[in-house]
Amino acid sequence: MTWETVIGLEVHAELSTKSKIFCGCTTAFGGEPNTHVCPVCSGMPGVLPRLNRAVVEYAVRLGLALGCEITRYCKFDRKNYFYPDLPKAYQVSQLYSPICRDGRLDIEAGGQAKTVGIREIHMEEDAGKLIHDAQGTFMDFNRCGVPLLEIVSQPDFRSVGEVTAYLEKLREILLYLGVCDCKMQEGSLRADVNLSVRRPDGEFGVRTEMKNLNSFKAVGRAIEFERLRQIKVLESGGRITQETRRWDDEAGESFGMRSKENAQDYRYFPEPDLLPLRIGEDWLEQIRETIPELAHQKRERYVRDFGLSGFEATVLTGHKSLSDLFEAVSERCGYPLEAARLITGEIMRLMNVTNTLPEDLALDAGKLSALVSLMMEGKINRNAYKETAEAVFMSGADPEAYISEKGLLMVNDSDAVSEAAGAVIAANPDAAADYRAGKTKAFGFLMGQVMRKLGGTANPDAVKKILKNMLDN
Ligand SMILES: [Zn+2]
Repeated sequence: MTWETVIGLEVHAELSTKSKIFCGCTTAFGGEPNTHVCPVCSGMPGVLPRLNRAVVEYAVRLGLALGCEITRYCKFDRKNYFYPDLPKAYQVSQLYSPICRDGRLDIEAGGQAKTVGIREIHMEEDAGKLIHDAQGTFMDFNRCGVPLLEIVSQPDFRSVGEVTAYLEKLREILLYLGVCDCKMQEGSLRADVNLSVRRPDGEFGVRTEMKNLNSFKAVGRAIEFERLRQIKVLESGGRITQETRRWDDEAGESFGMRSKENAQDYRYFPEPDLLPLRIGEDWLEQIRETIPELAHQKRERYVRDFGLSGFEATVLTGHKSLSDLFEAVSERCGYPLEAARLITGEIMRLMNVTNTLPEDLALDAGKLSALVSLMMEGKINRNAYKETAEAVFMSGADPEAYISEKGLLMVNDSDAVSEAAGAVIAANPDAAADYRAGKTKAFGFLMGQVMRKLGGTANPDAVKKILKNMLDN
């Protein structure tokens, strides 16, 4: 008998607003411990939170992009729990009226299209960090109060492939919307996985939750481990307990941490220090207008307007920094097809060689567009183009300066070509005679000689034409 895996995801996205959700402290990652704090975010008694307007705007932007219904009159709630990284002993979150509900995200996994339901998106504050070392445990409150959106899916996933496709698409949307930098290694995107198994079409099983998985790979491994663990327990006649489990990525297994809390364990109640939030029609429209073109819309446009292949369009929109670069380069030089080929070809190859992530790409669009123009206008040949692209990528070289310094400018000058061709014919009378006698192979030899004489920078088309002309007449 087979088992079906049922998975739901809660994704936490740290917002890239300048300041925290309820105070003016910076949200910048890192920093000396406890330097990005004030009485509000460090939970001093008697302080009052003030809601950051940008957090609401970011939440609505994401909600609209995911087709959610926006809650026009929403509230914050207190979630009470004690943990040393949360000095207030409660987290301001949203339980009863989250800002967005009932959205959807279309994914494709294993060649199958699927729609995943988004149950809700709510706003909340992040907690601090505990740092354990030999001397003991230290607390860093820099992250306290950094705004978070929690994106809660319906339990619609049935495989790791679907989960990964969803996370990738969600990351793409968050990046394009500019609401989260999605640096998983810095914890700005984290996922909790809820998982149960059942007989196909049977009742839902008891689910467990694995928290704070911070790479797509860890999510996949944790799911696979937990699925097999639950099946083993059930097949040997045991029962699954509802619990929170900790995934140990190094050990490749998860451990029961605590029995899973229910909402009533947190004694949620409406946050008395914050007024309910009313989102009017005007404000909603203003936010709607700030939603940029998303990746899938860009993909369609690149194919339709620029004639790119579906593959090129997919590669270029795979990360916002690549599509930004592509658009900047093609707009400046006016050769979108060639700009696409340069980026998906030589530039991606160099990124691979140097292990450069798209988000770390710092290429000057002006230099790349100058390079594309030089090639398209017949001033350099393909080899010089590649060499110069590498110099721009590796050391930020200026293409024109590099080309003139290295003598890579293509020789189009017909006098120079004629002179070289004449000299080559004179020096190789046998080859010239062979060609005239119908031995076409001899032409290749003579052509190579002329190219060599011109230092490899000649325009091959020009050489071919002039040499042929001289030999034939
Ligand atoms: Zn603060």
